[in-house]
Amino acid sequence: MAYALVALDTDRIKSYVFGTDRLREIRGASSILDRLNREIMEEIARDLDPRAQVVYANGGSGLFLLAEDKAEEFVRRVQAKYSEETRGGATVTGAVQRLPAGLAERDLWKAHLQEQLALLLYKLRRAKECPPATVARPSHPLFQLCDSCGLEYAAGQSPWREPREEHQRYCAICLQKRSEDAQIKKSIEKMAARPQEVRPGSGEDAKQAVLWANLINRLHRIAPDYFLKDGQPIVPKRPRDIDTLRSVASASQGSIRDYLGLIYADGNGMGGKIEKCLTLGEIKKFAKSIDDAIYEALATAVARHLSPVHVSGLLAEEDEENGQTEQGGQPKKDSYFFPFDVLLLGGDDLMLLTSGDRALQVALEVARVFRSEAREQQGTLSVGVVFAPLKYPFGLMRSLAENALRFAKKQAHASKWHSTGDDDDTRLNFLVVAGAATHEFDYLYQTVYSRREGNSEFCATLRPYRLPVLEALLEAIRQAKRLGFPRSKLHQLREAVLKMNRTSTVLAALAALQGCHDREREFLLRWLYDFNQRYLLQNGQPAEEAGTIQGFPRVIFPWSCLQAPGQSGREIYLTPLLDLVELYDFVAVQEGERESED
Ligand SMILES: [Zn+2]
Repeated sequence: MAYALVALDTDRIKSYVFGTDRLREIRGASSILDRLNREIMEEIARDLDPRAQVVYANGGSGLFLLAEDKAEEFVRRVQAKYSEETRGGATVTGAVQRLPAGLAERDLWKAHLQEQLALLLYKLRRAKECPPATVARPSHPLFQLCDSCGLEYAAGQSPWREPREEHQRYCAICLQKRSEDAQIKKSIEKMAARPQEVRPGSGEDAKQAVLWANLINRLHRIAPDYFLKDGQPIVPKRPRDIDTLRSVASASQGSIRDYLGLIYADGNGMGGKIEKCLTLGEIKKFAKSIDDAIYEALATAVARHLSPVHVSGLLAEEDEENGQTEQGGQPKKDSYFFPFDVLLLGGDDLMLLTSGDRALQVALEVARVFRSEAREQQGTLSVGVVFAPLKYPFGLMRSLAENALRFAKKQAHASKWHSTGDDDDTRLNFLVVAGAATHEFDYLYQTVYSRREGNSEFCATLRPYRLPVLEALLEAIRQAKRLGFPRSKLHQLREAVLKMNRTSTVLAALAALQGCHDREREFLLRWLYDFNQRYLLQNGQPAEEAGTIQGFPRVIFPWSCLQAPGQSGREIYLTPLLDLVELYDFVAVQEGERESED
């Protein structure tokens, strides 16, 4: 029997998932796609051909091996199922490549198939570039548009009670997303109540909420006491919407209560790495390792930094939705929430929303664990973290996070002083939204954080960070907090750095230091010198070997001055001080510790 390879790829995932700004619809859309991708594709394949095999199915794509005469039908059925489950909101593209007829079944996983794989990829790309013609729909000025996406015509109201939103009308696509979110909410609660029994891929709830089954299963393995409080089992709930997440954030212990943090992580150069695999066996192993690594990274970060949070005052609303309001005497176990929400997870992508004071620790942990779990595949992540006030629109926050992530990827190999000699291209970039006029990071970088003046180049940020350097920066912040470093001085230093030149920056920074206590001044200067020695010096290698930057940096407080390579005589002035000030409020002295405001 001849086999064919079938590649499937979901089209424009983000425009479907983030078609609206509402958490419920985002999560519903994400969950529908996840189930179609991880469960239903395989079900359809096995239904058509019991001997069909999955090479991989995650991150919105799939690669399947099945009987040649069933391949085209498989693509059509998957496409029909996508259309049905998303009410036409999402589509999937497929391509088929037959394998050599002489290929024996036992050799399928070991044979070198680079030609067939390259052809398949080409066919998939070509199919993606020629989407089917769209059918124009009837239009009328009196048709009402969907209250959520505003793009499609409204089809009806929510069939279940939604406090304060009864008057809203939604289109079929948005309604489907909302009903999905309501369904998986129940599945997640059932699974969170018995974490020890959750097995991904088995049981109704695990098949419904694919992502959470996997997460809860891993959480229970990594931290068996995650679902316990003082020895008693608790059943944490998923935040109902962004407002619930805001209450969870403001009930937290950290110093900054009114910020949310959005983390967006993405694998570095994964497409290129998977294209280097020669056999189906290698591809299967690679895809599974990367998918496992991102799940493990998420579960570890959740276990360590995102314990369930007790919130009061939200119960009435939550129960009203379930139609079971009780007066008084709420059982205590009902008032725990996960202090985060996963909006997207798959392949090598992760988007997670949490409170501002937790985001940085979580992002660091995710990047660190992913790197160690995917070491064999040389997998690394780039991460963008955006801190924004609670009321900041989610859509803007997401586009800032995407931009910060792109900057991290682009800059990983560009920055001269970032060269490390090792192959770890993990980078973390962050952006703090302050005031209404915050711009995308690459724009800020060019206009605020860097400046050229004659033969001198000033750079007020070391972003994007390598993990050890960021950890050193966070440790410095913790020390400064223990010392009680005055905030007013930090802001003075920030203003000084932003003057972006030699004379007035140095004068203003020294003036700020004048007002400090001796121990504060000593701490800051010692840290800055130490930081230079350690991280701005090509990892301590002699200048000749490092090649790019010559000589030792001179410290002209608050700048470190490096010579650019060659005979140009160009000087680069850098400082980590501004980054320290910007992150100051987002780092707790110690996990869960609270400090006084000054
Ligand atoms: Zn809609």
